[in-house]
Amino acid sequence: MTGAAGFIGSHLTERLLSDGHYVLGMDNLITGKYENIAHHSGNPKFEFIHHNVSNHLHIIGDLDWVIHFASPASPIDYLHLPIETLKVNSLGTHNTLGLARSKNAKYFLASTSEVYGDPLVHPQPETYWGNVNPIGPRGVYDESKRFAEAITMAYHHKHKLDTRIIRIFNCYGPRLRFNDGRVVSNFIHQALTGKPITIYGEGSQTRSFQYVSDLVDGIVALMPVKHNEPVNLGNPKEFTMIELAELVKELTGSQSKVVYEPLPVDDPKRRLPDISKAKALLNWSPKVDLRAGLEKTIAWYRQEMSEPVLK
Ligand code: NAD
Ligand code: UDP
Repeated sequence: MTGAAGFIGSHLTERLLSDGHYVLGMDNLITGKYENIAHHSGNPKFEFIHHNVSNHLHIIGDLDWVIHFASPASPIDYLHLPIETLKVNSLGTHNTLGLARSKNAKYFLASTSEVYGDPLVHPQPETYWGNVNPIGPRGVYDESKRFAEAITMAYHHKHKLDTRIIRIFNCYGPRLRFNDGRVVSNFIHQALTGKPITIYGEGSQTRSFQYVSDLVDGIVALMPVKHNEPVNLGNPKEFTMIELAELVKELTGSQSKVVYEPLPVDDPKRRLPDISKAKALLNWSPKVDLRAGLEKTIAWYRQEMSEPVLK
């Protein structure tokens, strides 16, 4: 699994290990943290390789799956790392597909709701082609993920690789870096430190937030299902950023004031998954509502922030 030391990758690693699998995690720690997986270091079923997957990959031994989750994912991360983001989703996807092919392994790609760009269709079904600005600041992420999907489908059609592609909608939970700039981590960290809660734009833009355990359940459910085309995984409950800020304030009991800052360029106005495919195919739907998921995430932030080391 590439990106194993990241937010989602570390949760998926935990789940695969607890299901009895052997996991070879690969990560260059560019946006991840070794601490996220350090607790597996004594586990004989876990191995970690520090490697940049945009460079050639060489693995000794057999693999059943190649699971490609490596990529900066937070807007501020991929805005700071535009070339690295383009490379990991293009060269990194090519390398990992080649690895899967050479090992006769199945292949799993983490794609994103960002392939829909600033969507004009609501909710977004997998059949929607999207509304992406290829040369805007977010283009480095959106277009490279679209390329990743295209090359994955090409390996499926040309080389008969057994592939899975998921389009992940905003996912949150414990291990989101405090400073990764995503809205959930920003608001919780700001609320717990008494800093102003920063709403970008008017705060009427929406997102649909899925708790990480729901996503991991969806991933594990899709693995044995031979469906090679993209599947949306997200929570179909939509919230404005104002509603999110109010909920975070209520759950943290914070006195932070809310401030309004400029909306980033090309920030999608609405994002809402159509999950009928995942429901029908996997008998899956999210179980954790935003209030319950935020409570768990806030509890984790409180615990981490009370530790003496500077995170
Ligand atoms: P993250 O930044 O926490 O994790 C990504 C991991 O990939 C990090 O550990 C990073 O160090 C590693 N990485 C990046 N480039 C690499 C490279 N060249 N070689 C090796 N390792 C590299 O992000 P995340 O939220 O856990 O996202 C994981 C995947 O899910 C990404 O592919 C992302 O695009 C996708 N995704 C996430 C979300 C979300 O809401 N979190 C939404 C849509 C898609
Ligand atoms: N956002 C915000 N305040 C913040 C961080 C983000 O209002 O401190 C907004 C951002 O403009 C976007 C939404 O929250 O409309 C979600 O942003 P995020 O960075 O989490 O991810 P995105 O869904 O845009 O990829």
